[in-house]
Amino acid sequence: MAVKTKNLLVNMSNLSKVFPNGTIAVKDVNLEITEGEFFCFVGPSGCGKSTIFKMITGLENYTDGEIEIFGKSANEARKQNEVAFVFQDHTLLPWLTVIDNVALPLQLRGVSKQERYKEAERVLELVGLPQSKEMLPRQLSGGMKMRVSIARALVTRPRLLLMDEPFGALDEITRQSLQKELLNIWQKDSSMTVLFITHNVFEAVYLSSKVVVMTPGPGKISANIDVPFSYPREDGFRTTPEFGDLIGEVSKVLDH
Ligand code: ADP
Repeated sequence: MAVKTKNLLVNMSNLSKVFPNGTIAVKDVNLEITEGEFFCFVGPSGCGKSTIFKMITGLENYTDGEIEIFGKSANEARKQNEVAFVFQDHTLLPWLTVIDNVALPLQLRGVSKQERYKEAERVLELVGLPQSKEMLPRQLSGGMKMRVSIARALVTRPRLLLMDEPFGALDEITRQSLQKELLNIWQKDSSMTVLFITHNVFEAVYLSSKVVVMTPGPGKISANIDVPFSYPREDGFRTTPEFGDLIGEVSKVLDH
């Protein structure tokens, strides 16, 4: 049987960004991301991770090199609503109920109330919050707010989901259960690609199929490491010697 070739989703070649004040945030980044991957970006603050994400979404221009998303420019991909973003700060609107927050991207596109509620209920089920749709953000815990943010990103059925340190402000137990649920959601949609920024090497290795390690001054990719473990990743995976070995490998690159 012929092997199915995966589509190239993001292609960065010699991508560089110099801010007007002269800061070289990203220098000569080359990276290919194929459909269905889970990529984590790790590296110290200031190594250009967020700048790369902003260039992928077209929110920031690049100053050299090239970036293509599904063979299109970043701006075109964003306009066609193929890319969604989740930030650490949940950015929910406090006066809207959970279901209206989640349905908002569809409302902005003029989707009928019946249709957008149907889609919002679908994704609230996915993130484990079907009972909370009438609640207001102030009535939710930090973990629940993050679930709502993820639901709001998924409601448009994006092909590419960008997550910038989404779990950084959560306690460890909530963080681990959200990591597990995020993997379940991603596995249910084999064509969705996730790019995820974290400072946490354990989180990166647990979640991803590839770990991109970045170094600052100027921001560069110093390693692109395959995570050769299959999914689903069981709870015991985090305590296996193989997991520990890979944590050591990634940490070593980070320390250099
Ligand atoms: P990270 O996400 O890895 O913490 P960033 O992409 O936010 O790093 O920043 C990379 C570098 O670019 C840092 O030195 C930061 O100070 C600088 N930088 C980010 N945004 C701007 C800006 N708007 N103007 C000037 N420098 C910036």
